[in-house]
Amino acid sequence: MQPSDLSAVDLVNAVRQGDLTAVRCTEAYLDRIAALDGSINAFLSVDREGSLRTAASIDERRKAGKPIGPLAGLPVAVKDALCTTDQPTTCASKMLAGFRPPYDAEVVARLRAADAVIVGKTNMDEFAMGGSNENSAFGPVHNPWDLARTPGGSSGGSAAAVAADMAPVAIGSDTGGSIRQPAGLCGITGLKPTYGRVSRRGLVAFASSLDQIGPMARSAADCALILSSIAGHDPGDATSLDAPVPSYTADLERPLEGVRIGRVAAHFGAGVDPEVAHAVEEAFAAFRAAGAIIKEIDLPHADAGVATYYLVAPCEASSNLARYDGAHYGHRAEPGKTSGGFESALVEMYCRSRAEGFGPEVKRRIMLGTYALSAGYYDAYYAKALRVRRLIRQDYLDAFAEVDLIGGPVSATAAFKLGEKTGDPLSMYLVDLYTVGTNLAGVGGISFPCGFTKSGLPIGFQLQGPALAEQLLLRAADRYQHLTDWHLRRPAIAAQRC
Ligand code: GLN
Repeated sequence: MQPSDLSAVDLVNAVRQGDLTAVRCTEAYLDRIAALDGSINAFLSVDREGSLRTAASIDERRKAGKPIGPLAGLPVAVKDALCTTDQPTTCASKMLAGFRPPYDAEVVARLRAADAVIVGKTNMDEFAMGGSNENSAFGPVHNPWDLARTPGGSSGGSAAAVAADMAPVAIGSDTGGSIRQPAGLCGITGLKPTYGRVSRRGLVAFASSLDQIGPMARSAADCALILSSIAGHDPGDATSLDAPVPSYTADLERPLEGVRIGRVAAHFGAGVDPEVAHAVEEAFAAFRAAGAIIKEIDLPHADAGVATYYLVAPCEASSNLARYDGAHYGHRAEPGKTSGGFESALVEMYCRSRAEGFGPEVKRRIMLGTYALSAGYYDAYYAKALRVRRLIRQDYLDAFAEVDLIGGPVSATAAFKLGEKTGDPLSMYLVDLYTVGTNLAGVGGISFPCGFTKSGLPIGFQLQGPALAEQLLLRAADRYQHLTDWHLRRPAIAAQRC
């Protein structure tokens, strides 16, 4: 049996019992990355030496009878938006090329404390802005199910790494869908926890009122294992919730009898691919068979989600990204001959550094956000968006008075072709239709495979839950995965023995 055939849960048990060494497991995954990533481009850096050293020290400790952590020997791929002291952190931007953070993100520190092995940093849309991974300054990621298609984004590298068995689990971040949408398009499971459940300290900020870190894995049970190690209060993140962390793994077996799942008719309107609609309806039927009660509900302001998100997120991004000016942070343009038209050499340096460092989508968001926040437009755009955000949040609160979870599609279509939407930013933004509401409301959501198109592309199902309902989200997804085997299917590329 290859380590890549084991779930994360079985893998840590095998290491704990001495049936598998952390070194052998890490090496097996590193070999897969070396063999497969040339055609997928999921990794921006791989730390072969460092991760084998970490693995060896775990094996030594175990052999010496010393305690090892709950994730001992588990290889983890981390989105390049999280700071790591021993590997570069670029956010897939030229602006941060070669940046070595002076500290680890809290999530990275917790993974290390649990004895996970951080094998590499994954590709993403630049500064997490995008839904296809095509906004990376270091080339797009290819979907393991069809290399001509996108893996989704912005955590596309993390999703593709797990889908192609180059890592058993990965860490992503989700501001408007960036864990759930790529998980859906790559046929894996991804959880966006409640805002504040997982510390954001050391996550390069995109839109601070929406950003949240979460696990991506082959199953809900594996996500539960990771969440147990990374969730919990962090005094270093003022928005982190000081709420007890339940056992996400212990509760999984409990049946779904009587759990009420909301179905929103508008999720099946025009624009939804019939194959997606069919698979999602089948998933509702499976939940009903598992004892859940399906109830029709309404989210009356869901239509305004994308418009609201594309004001709130760029406004916060324009402010967060102001620090990258070549002086305080980020790429600095070479001093050249002053080309004129600037107030001073300093202003020219700022302008040229930002012009060279940021890619087109990041510039578009900064301009949108700066415009919407400017005097005279603030009330019409930003303040109004905040008011609509409140209405959207209220919709969720009202819905969760009637149901325990809300089900539906993650995306209206399966993975689209690379290049298909790059010329039309609006059509790319519409991809986020079903995912942005979760972030605007600050609640949690999980996405997992519920079928395949005739051409063999995965289709994702999304469950959203009230604040701090991660236990229920994971349990519902896990119960579904006991009834179905969609999550066990692997793309042909993953079957390659390395
Ligand atoms: N696709 C969305 C965007 O482009 C979501 C990104 C994210 O969640 N980081 O902003």
